[in-house]
Amino acid sequence: MKNILVIKIGSQVLMDEKWQFDSKVIQQVAEDIDFLRKNWYYCLVVSSGACALGKNLLKHHDQSTLTNQVTASIGQPFLMKVYQEIFAQYDITVSQALLTRFDFSNKSTYGSIQSVLQKQCELGIVPIINENDVVANDEIIFSDNDQLAAFVAIMLWAKKLILLSNITWLYTSHPDEGGKIIHNVEKIDDKIFEYVSKKKSSFGRGWMYSKLISAQTATYAGVDVVLGEGKKRHIIRNIVDDKKIGTVFYKNPISRKKTQMESWIQAGALLKGKIIVNACLSDLLQQKKRISILEIGIVEATGEFETGDLLEVCDSEGEILGKWLARISNKEFKKYKTNEKSQVVIHANYFVYTN
Ligand code: GLU
Repeated sequence: MKNILVIKIGSQVLMDEKWQFDSKVIQQVAEDIDFLRKNWYYCLVVSSGACALGKNLLKHHDQSTLTNQVTASIGQPFLMKVYQEIFAQYDITVSQALLTRFDFSNKSTYGSIQSVLQKQCELGIVPIINENDVVANDEIIFSDNDQLAAFVAIMLWAKKLILLSNITWLYTSHPDEGGKIIHNVEKIDDKIFEYVSKKKSSFGRGWMYSKLISAQTATYAGVDVVLGEGKKRHIIRNIVDDKKIGTVFYKNPISRKKTQMESWIQAGALLKGKIIVNACLSDLLQQKKRISILEIGIVEATGEFETGDLLEVCDSEGEILGKWLARISNKEFKKYKTNEKSQVVIHANYFVYTN
């Protein structure tokens, strides 16, 4: 079985200092992917750049969602043409997959995306993935392509998620203020989040804070995440060779290969409500016990949910303990509450720990 790599390329990487499109990076990526595919790797690319390119082509630079949607629809075919032409020099066929957050939230489309991407890899095709910006509006949108890339990596049990941008290292504070480089992160906890500002870079939607959120999702689910300087030649090969050239976020050591259901609950299904459990249950869940939850242990259930919807399970302080795929609706749950006899409402098979 080959290893899977998901490589995310940020908008800045594809533009030069004058904010003109620069295809050199795509050439370098193709060169590395060609090398790696001959060395037991399947590679998938999550590429931004459609909006940036479209804005240049249209000479229209406002930042509204509608303008982003329009400019992405112009930039995307141009971007794909460049990927196609450059990868063809290495005899590699590329495919295009334009996905939305909504496609991941539906179990059936989730399965379909997974099968298609897997099959394309087996056929030697390199999928070039981007958000389907025309469909993605303010109500349902990935926070950025870092999140989309993390979802793809989890869905395919990738060995590594490589985030290529102009952000290479995590620092303890801004480097100009004496911040120190952090080479390796074993666990992305509150302390790690304190190092980064929530301030956004001016280009693209991804920045360090968003990279941490995506890396947290991916590492919890069992995927290593590495940051890399996108414009450097052989950056992907060097990361695969474990050369220390960007911060590495290590996967949760106790994570095992997830079932499709677990991966989908962790990075796919959308939250529809919340369950608050009592102290006794929250203790057991803190200890990561595999248990089913009886109605009696549930203090409160909020949200309008149906069978098959995803709920967050929290303790009374609001700390998230895991996610549960509801096997009953909130109306049925209320009926259980008035019944004398306790029913199992959260079956262990449908519960996943989120950290
Ligand atoms: N779909 C956007 C684009 O191609 C991605 C924006 C981003 O994550 O920066 O431009």
